[in-house]
Amino acid sequence: MADADPPLAHVLIVDDDESLNRSLSSILGSEGYRISSRYTADGLIEFLDANQIDLLILDIGLPQIDGLAVLQSIKGHSVHWDIPILVLTGAPAGEVSVEALGLGATDFVTKPFRLDDFLARIRAHLRDGRALQTARREARSEAEVNDILREAAVAASPAEIYQVLVRRIASGLKISRCSIVLDDDNGETATVVAACDSPGLRHLTVELRRYPELLGPMITGEPLLIDNVRDDPTFAPVRELWRVEGRVVPTTSVAVVPFKVRERRAAAFYLRTAGEDGVLSEADLQFGRRVIDAARPLLDKAHNFEEAIQRQDEMRQLAETDSLTGLFNRRALRERLDRELARAQRNNTVLSALMLDIDLFKRLNDTYGHELGDRVLTQLAEVLRREQRAIDVLARLGGEEFVVLLPETGIRGARIYAERILRKVSAATLGTVEHPAQITVSIGIATYPDERVHDPDSLLRLADTNLLRAKADGRNRYRD
Ligand code: GH3
Ligand code: MG
Ligand code: MG
Repeated sequence: MADADPPLAHVLIVDDDESLNRSLSSILGSEGYRISSRYTADGLIEFLDANQIDLLILDIGLPQIDGLAVLQSIKGHSVHWDIPILVLTGAPAGEVSVEALGLGATDFVTKPFRLDDFLARIRAHLRDGRALQTARREARSEAEVNDILREAAVAASPAEIYQVLVRRIASGLKISRCSIVLDDDNGETATVVAACDSPGLRHLTVELRRYPELLGPMITGEPLLIDNVRDDPTFAPVRELWRVEGRVVPTTSVAVVPFKVRERRAAAFYLRTAGEDGVLSEADLQFGRRVIDAARPLLDKAHNFEEAIQRQDEMRQLAETDSLTGLFNRRALRERLDRELARAQRNNTVLSALMLDIDLFKRLNDTYGHELGDRVLTQLAEVLRREQRAIDVLARLGGEEFVVLLPETGIRGARIYAERILRKVSAATLGTVEHPAQITVSIGIATYPDERVHDPDSLLRLADTNLLRAKADGRNRYRD
């Protein structure tokens, strides 16, 4: 959690003069300050570490520790440099006071003092101290934002950027839960695209009615801060749901920073605290906002890039696919054949190509029509797909001709494959319920290495020659 502006300025009095300490406490308390008081400097640094102090009133005439040494030790802890210190001294203004100022005291007051003057100084130092703290905090968060951006800039995809953002925000604010949610624009669901507590998460659909705190900000674009989840009316619609489900809600506070992905899709940074996280403040909300503002151009660019890649993939796939069967087309086959044959030659391994043609397909078309013929072609592709290994390449050359490439497969394997295909095809009932169609195919096999094969064309030519032999020998068979 970033340090929040406390509702009351917190003044710490360290003075061994009990009566002065008590009366100062009571006077300043009635002036509207929150007071802590200590009679010695023991454990002072630890106290400052644990509490947000806006002004320290320090008596430098303490019995146990030399007041100047205390000043020195406070100034030795850089996190406490911003705390204004008003030094009280019993001695008349002189050497000690000068030394105190040299050690970083903001001001000094000599006892006894005039109360109105004392109060005026306190007010002034509190005002200056706050301004300084705000400036320092802003500078710190600026540096932090820049550092987060540097990490996000090397992320390769929107998903990774989202993950960097939630991780860095959660660690920066010391909260246990931080996620990024994208509206699905259907009024019902949203998608969690990153969550700091599950780094692998990329896509989790949630029902928006369960998160009334998200809905408002994503619609209006206004951020939301709820520091008391238990009593806040925003949660009224879901409290009954929680009760029925017997769900204990450990969330104590929530901050939602809405933003838009590429000016279009509503999204939100969703910060939550639970248990010992403390409570989210306005400063935390602002930090989330600065991070997302800074990261948005990066995110939009990554989204655009991802979309372009996707489109390119789709185009390539479209260009390589036979639209009727979904198998590779002639062009794609050619590319893969070049690659596979080169690989076989390079690695001294084997490669088989099968050319496959439906027997008497014209008759089927003429009898039942072209549409049924198309259907049979698709069904045959399905039969081939079922027999396909991951490395095999299936293509439709055109018409009722198919080619299957079997990498790492020699003549024996190719024959076994061909026999299986012949069996499966002739056993299958294709067509429709009204027009069941029984078909057979003929297959020509070519295998590299073979003295007739020296390039992709000669491999396909050999398969075609063997296909014609299979046809001539009576169809429904293979030849090699
Ligand atoms: P064979 O056993 O000798 O191969 O006899 P076939 O009738 O199959 O041979 P042919 O090459 O003479 O005829 C091929 C037929 O395939 C011609 C056409 O009717 C049909 N055909 C080609 N492409 C398509 C297609 O895309 N859809 C449909 N439905 N039929 C096609
Ligand atoms: Mg044919
Ligand atoms: Mg043909």
